[in-house]
Parts: sequence; structure tokens; C-alpha cells
Amino acid sequence: MPPTHELVVADATLRNRAGRWQLGVDDGRITAVEQGPLSGREEIDAAGALVTESFVNGHMHLDKVYTLDRIGDAALTAYTSGDMGSALHSIELASAVKEGYDRAWIGPNARKAVLEAVRYGVRHVLAFADVDTHAQLEGVIPLLELREEFRGVVDLQVVAFPQDGLLRDPGAEQLVRDAIFLGADVVGGIPWIEHTDAEAREHVRRMCELAAAHGRRVAMLVDDAGDASLRTTEMLATAMIEHGLVGRGVANHARAVGLYPRPSLERLAGLAKRAGLGFVSDPHTGPLHLPVRELTAMGLPVALGQDDIEDAYYPFGRHHMLEVAFLAAHALEAVDTAGIDLVYDAVLTTAADVLGVTGHRLEVGGNADLVVHHHDNLREVVGHHEPPAYVVASGRLVATSTTTTTFHLTASLQKENA
Ligand SMILES: [Zn+2]
Repeated sequence: MPPTHELVVADATLRNRAGRWQLGVDDGRITAVEQGPLSGREEIDAAGALVTESFVNGHMHLDKVYTLDRIGDAALTAYTSGDMGSALHSIELASAVKEGYDRAWIGPNARKAVLEAVRYGVRHVLAFADVDTHAQLEGVIPLLELREEFRGVVDLQVVAFPQDGLLRDPGAEQLVRDAIFLGADVVGGIPWIEHTDAEAREHVRRMCELAAAHGRRVAMLVDDAGDASLRTTEMLATAMIEHGLVGRGVANHARAVGLYPRPSLERLAGLAKRAGLGFVSDPHTGPLHLPVRELTAMGLPVALGQDDIEDAYYPFGRHHMLEVAFLAAHALEAVDTAGIDLVYDAVLTTAADVLGVTGHRLEVGGNADLVVHHHDNLREVVGHHEPPAYVVASGRLVATSTTTTTFHLTASLQKENA
């Protein structure tokens, strides 16, 4: 009998389904999820391991990756110290890297980080590029080129991000418009950095108006400092409703929300639901973070992001969302079964929902974007956070990884470790 599928992933363990499963894949879609045998022109043997949707990175400064050695870690010290009261100062220190901003080195750096995404099975990235009077368009142009190069393997949603503010940085707004004209997918923003609440509100209004006029989504860094009085997440949600952007916006960082008293948190949650506002948190990159578990329990979609890779704000990072989930499990005290499910979904299906990616579900008709792990249960998958054994993107195998150690011990020790 001729093969009936282009690709079959055989002998898979699936989440929340007993037994072993075979997945059929055709034309970039999942066309069968069955317990009986399937035949494919190509086959991947999962050997009983867990197979899930591939990963989604809800927030990433892709133009700044691998820049820590260029700038030194003074900004890192300021950003991560104590109560994050010096976050504003750290952004000013970090902006020094932009004096030498040049697509000639940004492009290769970003490309390396996208290749790491392939290795670790990251399929979608909300990729921020600084667009301001220092960076000009040097960061956004190489990301737009990478978006075309990697389409279908790693899809980049490129955000035109005015890192130094709009009213604080005259000229930035026109550059954001230019970046949208060049094809940037998402209008960015960082309202909390403006000098007054009125200017923050104006910042949000201008960017939401721009997004609405060009049919774009919005993604902003909001309330990113240790100051419980910051209310720019609320401003974003309100502006989304006012500009017809319901369900088309993302709030990144929002760390100050972690300091809100319960009534303020509940008011914000109610407003965010009306606005269809999704959240992305990155608790591994700062001592203060969004109350992820509380907002999730209130019914809001909260994703996790890698945020940074070896830049002025975070010295580590491999574009490895399983590692991000592992770190978040600790920071959020989410190490029981429900907690591990939560952090895993936050780098998977919840993150896809927050980014507006449709079809990112392991089911018949879903996108054939899959990872095959080395273990058959989520606790070990997250705990070991190894690169997936197989990464399938748009129905094609794009990466394989092994994890092998050979012991060289005396016979008696070898026996102990067998
Ligand atoms: Zn960030």
C-alpha cells in the first residue's frame, strides 16, 4: 500500500491523552491523530516520547542579542538591582550601544539567535527592534530581512519599538511610521518611560492610532519599573478599545502590576478582558514581575518571553523557551503539576493566542509545527529542558538533537551508575 501521508510522527505520547499515537502530516497541516498505524513517505519515530506544539516566544529584543560584551554590565546592574527603581536609568545606560548601531553586525547577531530558535523548536517570535533617533532603522531592517528568509521555519512578527519614548525623543514617531511603511508587522510603544502620565497617554494614543490606520497589531512595554503608581497597562487597554483594536494588543513586562493592591489588579483584569489584551511576562530577567498565576486564574492569557539574549539587561539566554519555562516555574513557584502545565502552555498555545497566531494546536487541521521531546512526561521535559529530539516546522523536519553522555569510569563505579 502506498504511503498515505507526507510525514508520520509515530509512537507519540500526547498531553492529556492516554496511550500512544500516530500523527499524519500533509501540506503543513496535521491531517490525522490516530492510535492505529499510519504510513508516511517520511517517518519520525518518537519512541514513546512526548510530542507537543512547537514553542512561541512572546517577547524578544532581537536587534540587541549578543551585545553585552560591547557595552559592559553597568546597565544590567542598574536594571536588576533591588526593587527595580533604577530601570529608567538602566535604559539610558543601555542606549549607549546604539551609538554604534549598524545593520552590518546586527543582522548576523540576530540571524544566530533565529538559528538557535530552530534548534530549540521556537516557531513564532514577537521580535522587537529599537526604532528611535539613535538606532534609526538599523535594527528593524535586518529583522525584516530575516523574517523573509526564515518564513515558515521561524516566523518573526517584527515590532517597530520606540525604545526611548515618543515625546521624550522627537523624531522617533516618524521613524516608527517609516518602519511600518517598510513592512514592520506590529506598532510598538513604551509609554511608561515618558515624563508625565499625560504624555504617556498621548504616546499610547498616537501608536494605537497608527496601528488602527494601517491594520497592525500593537505591542508595548508597559509599567516596567518598581513603581506601583504606574498605570500605562490600563492606558493601553483603554486605547485599544477606543481605536477598534480589541484582541489585537500585547502588554509586555508590566512588572509594576506585581506591586498593585488586589483591588487595582482586579480592575485592570476586568478592563484587559474587555480590550482582549494579552500579557507577556519574563520573570527570569528581573526581580519584579507580573502576577502571572493570579492573572491566569482571572482568565487572562499570559505568555512568557525570552526577552533578552546576552544583552545589557540579561547576561544569559539561548532562545530556549523550555529553559524560560523552567526558570519561570521557580520564579512563579509553579512546580506542581498544574504549575508546570501553566508555564508550558505559556510558551506554547497561550503564547500563540497572545500573539494572534491561529491554528497552533496539535489536532486534526492544526498547523504541523511540532516538537518531539526526549521524555514521555512534562515534568521531565521541563526539568531537563533539552533541545527537542526533532523539530517539525510547516510539516518539514528542520532540526534534530541528541543528548548523549558516555561514562568513562572504573568497572565498579560504572555498575553503580548503570
Ligand atoms: Zn523586554
